[in-house]
Amino acid sequence: MSDAPKLTPMMERYLEVKAQNPEAILFFRMGDFYELFHEDAAVAAKILGLTLTSRDKGSANPVPMAGFPYHSLEGYLHKMIRAGKRVAICDQVEDPKTAKGMVRREVTRIVTPGTLTDDSLLEPKQRNFLASVALNSGGDRAGLAWIDVSTGEFWCTELDSIQLLDDLARIRPSELVISDELRHVDDEGFSKVQWLKLAEQQFKMSLAYRPVWEFREVAGKDVLCKHFRVKSLEGFGLEKETLSVAAAGVLVVYVQEMQKAALGHILSLKRFEHASSMLIDDATRRSLELTRTMREGARQGTLLDVLDKTVTPMGARKLGDWIDHPLKNILEIRRRHESVGELLNDRAGRERLRDLLDQTYDLQRLTARVATGRCSPKDLISLAKTLSILPDLKSLLESFSTPLIAEQTSNLKLCDDTCARITSTLSEDPPLAVSDGGVIRTGFNAQLDEFRDLSTGGKQWIARYQAEEATKTGIPNLKVGYNKVFGYYLEVTAAHQDKIPDYFLRKQTLKNQERFITPELKEYEEKVLRADEQALALESQLYDQLKAELLSCCSDLQQSAEVMSIIDVLAGFAELSESRRYSQPEMTEETLLEIHNGRHPVLDILLPAGEFVPNDVLLGGDHGLIQIITGPNMAGKSTYIRQAALITLMAQVGCYVPAERARIGIADRIFARVGASDELGKGQSTFMVEMTETARILNTATDKSLVILDEIGRGTSTYDGLSLAWAVTEYLHDDTRCRAMFATHYHELTELKSTLKRASNWNVSVHEQNGQVVFLHRIIPGPADKSYGIHVAQLAGVPNSVIRRAQEVLKTLEEEHTDEVGKPKVPTRQKASKQRQLSLFVPPTEDHPVITKLRDIDINTLTPLQALQLLGQLSSDAR
Ligand code: ADP
Repeated sequence: MSDAPKLTPMMERYLEVKAQNPEAILFFRMGDFYELFHEDAAVAAKILGLTLTSRDKGSANPVPMAGFPYHSLEGYLHKMIRAGKRVAICDQVEDPKTAKGMVRREVTRIVTPGTLTDDSLLEPKQRNFLASVALNSGGDRAGLAWIDVSTGEFWCTELDSIQLLDDLARIRPSELVISDELRHVDDEGFSKVQWLKLAEQQFKMSLAYRPVWEFREVAGKDVLCKHFRVKSLEGFGLEKETLSVAAAGVLVVYVQEMQKAALGHILSLKRFEHASSMLIDDATRRSLELTRTMREGARQGTLLDVLDKTVTPMGARKLGDWIDHPLKNILEIRRRHESVGELLNDRAGRERLRDLLDQTYDLQRLTARVATGRCSPKDLISLAKTLSILPDLKSLLESFSTPLIAEQTSNLKLCDDTCARITSTLSEDPPLAVSDGGVIRTGFNAQLDEFRDLSTGGKQWIARYQAEEATKTGIPNLKVGYNKVFGYYLEVTAAHQDKIPDYFLRKQTLKNQERFITPELKEYEEKVLRADEQALALESQLYDQLKAELLSCCSDLQQSAEVMSIIDVLAGFAELSESRRYSQPEMTEETLLEIHNGRHPVLDILLPAGEFVPNDVLLGGDHGLIQIITGPNMAGKSTYIRQAALITLMAQVGCYVPAERARIGIADRIFARVGASDELGKGQSTFMVEMTETARILNTATDKSLVILDEIGRGTSTYDGLSLAWAVTEYLHDDTRCRAMFATHYHELTELKSTLKRASNWNVSVHEQNGQVVFLHRIIPGPADKSYGIHVAQLAGVPNSVIRRAQEVLKTLEEEHTDEVGKPKVPTRQKASKQRQLSLFVPPTEDHPVITKLRDIDINTLTPLQALQLLGQLSSDAR
């Protein structure tokens, strides 16, 4: 006989459910509690701060256990998800009162970081993406699909695996679904999934593994066709796609499995075109701090934060999308600018618009909850309130005429039927849960009203009965109470014991009072309880009916939500432009960048008013394409070049720009390599990272790109670094021919101007004031004063002996490495085909006499003996 204790049916069911959901923490409903057992209990005790106890304490194998009251579910769920865990919620799926034997328990949903729909678990202003990657057999091509389950937006694309990291950095999924195959990758396969390792290190995302066969194209096609109820994927433009279809199919299956609900809000699948928006790689995204700061990963202090003047969470999320995908099409960009202009000029109209939007709720996420059937009565009331604002919004929008706003106005669906349906069905202030009762409005259903009258009538009768009995018996504090065990009862305190009449039937004796029932009371009790029960059942049925009716309007709701989000972003841009005095940039297809009195959008706001020093940027045309900016550290070089990149990006996002005036040539890509960020955590040396990123810029930038480089080559020895910086600039100038800004403390680079005709020198003015170094942060044309380094050190109070010595060392170094007029000795650039050995900073050596002699030999006139003698001669000359 086995020693193992016999399991109770409940524990048997627990283990069964757990076995079906091995990767999730199981919240198992038992009565009024959710309980966790075994390993789950230990994990939960730590994350949720619960007390770890044990079941079957006395036995040889006590089971670790932890639990919490069912009504605290939300809070605990939140903590688990935050910790990156997935949770399976196992509920009682039949009424304990009517259940025969053990109550049936099923997993009603699995909550994972990427499949959230509850508002309480989501960040209002942030998207929450679930992504999936399907690789081809070689691992070099990938299908990538991503979905925001909380709104229903769904995209897919196909790309080289090497680009996955950039796309994942843009999407920032909170959860990634990948094939089981990738669970254990050996060294050989490592290169194929390097993107995964890097993404795991860089982003906080939870991984979900699925069986290999789910990632096959046929499976994906099948799932998608079924979900969208179509015969082929042609309508989505995906008939030729294989890997992206596979990845998208995986997501639909996964979401269905987790939600265990209909996914009526996932109405389309969009093919993402990399070419349609400006590409921003991960390094640039980080360097420019577009949506997260470099150090803390915070939103505050980023471009997104500064541009966000939206009043709805939908608008804030849309703005994030726009910043992630700046436009390249000049007409589309101008459309946005024109609308911002119109909203800017009509301040009253704009304020009224923003005021209306401010009164709405998150229509996108509400719609998703309607579609998945997870909407609470309060959600529907919020939905109705939002919809009730739409007619005013539409009529206000009609007063605007720029094409983009006009398009939104005509797209706005009023959904007035939906609004009317909800308000006529639901009471004005319904409880959170349908089971609490009182959700359906009086007058909506005659049968329900009858049940309610019966119940209220019964309750009124009971109140009256209490008063009558108190008078009749002379017990002034006689009270009618209710509990689940005895139902309604009469309560008499010990002081009035002697007045208890015969027809009071004793039910319970407590310390200071006794409880009785009477046949009359029981009769009414039954009426009340039955009526209550019937009313609740009918309410729940009517509520389900309403939910089912609402499913048909999800697509209209989504369309209106989209309109609201776009209007919100545009009005926010206008608001910002007015308050910060931004101007409309003139957009052009020419390769130029002219910014007059431009400001860094973030620093301009962070610094006290008037402290930011505006600067000009002049690239293209007569100004040349490359700006070399020299100046000491902390003078403002990085700020200046970042500002140029950010202004270009803002313009292409559709926003006005922080400048007095700007002409901006559209950039196909922006590359930023700013500052020596410490990437040691990634297992690569800073210099290696710097060079990898530089290589990438040189290999992918086009003549339409904007490249900003800050202190390239700083991570190695001076001459190494200087040489690299020199060669990189030459390459960008001669081969890429793009707009580039190069901030450097290598003063020697200013000499590039003499050989590169499209380069110009700029420097940061530094002034001495009362013995103090003052950075004016003003970038002016011309090379920097060569001696600024030691000069600044002197002004900063470095001892004189050190300054003198530094000057001596500098002199020697300069003599060694400069020509007679003081210019650095750098060889002129040769075409790559002319192979030769470069010796930097040292003039090429003159030909050796042996080489001259060799060149003069005429082989055809030599006898073999003469040839041998000549060889002897050359050999001795060479020594
Ligand atoms: P560098 O790249 O030359 O080392 P930074 O661009 O990092 O210098 O600027 C250093 C600091 O100087 C910034 O943090 C900011 O406080 C200030 N600064 C830079 N540019 C400006 C400006 N145009 N106006 C006012 N302050 C500035």
